[in-house]
Amino acid sequence: MASKAPGRVHRKGITLMELAARFPDEGAARKWFEAQLWPAERCCGHCGSGRTTEASHKTMPYWCSDCRSYFSVKTGTALAASNVKLRKWVWAIYLELTSLKGVSSMKLHRDIGVSQKTAWFMLHRIREAFTRPGDAFSGPVEVDETYMGGREKNRPKGKRAGVKGGTGGKTAVIAAKDRKTRQEAASLPGPCRGDRPVAGGDLNHVEKAPVRSPAEP
Ligand SMILES: [Zn+2]
Repeated sequence: MASKAPGRVHRKGITLMELAARFPDEGAARKWFEAQLWPAERCCGHCGSGRTTEASHKTMPYWCSDCRSYFSVKTGTALAASNVKLRKWVWAIYLELTSLKGVSSMKLHRDIGVSQKTAWFMLHRIREAFTRPGDAFSGPVEVDETYMGGREKNRPKGKRAGVKGGTGGKTAVIAAKDRKTRQEAASLPGPCRGDRPVAGGDLNHVEKAPVRSPAEP
């Protein structure tokens, strides 16, 4: 948590009544999570592609045309690998974030009707997701970009991005390396792949470190 955040008791939030009214069913919860995760465009949780369509799969309502897999709003997030309903996640997040000392797995188990083991797993995931690790990069950090993927003209016609020029149709990859700790990270930028780390961690942790190009001393 950010150190400047006010104490939880001073924060304005919504009441239990409002929460219940706002999330009357699973569909409402799904809509809310989707709006949080994909404010601009729906992105595949496996590969980060924006080339997705709706699908008729029972639990995975979307299809990615790039990696050819089904996905849901949970795919690739802290909520993955669980069959817990999104509505229960909403309640668990609310209860955890509004209790001064956090909620116990025993209480969550009773409050939202999951096993204690599941409640423990959920709390673990929520705490992990809401805790930003310390500044992973202290710098100086070398930042560079590269373009991956084959040439546009070698692709089948249906798969061309229609962009001309040297990097046309290729995927940009931004990479960072801390000169002191030798820590590295790489990300795919873009509307969909915005801050999707592909290796080494989150590039958002670079923001405070002094940045150099690889050629600079
Ligand atoms: Zn994909």
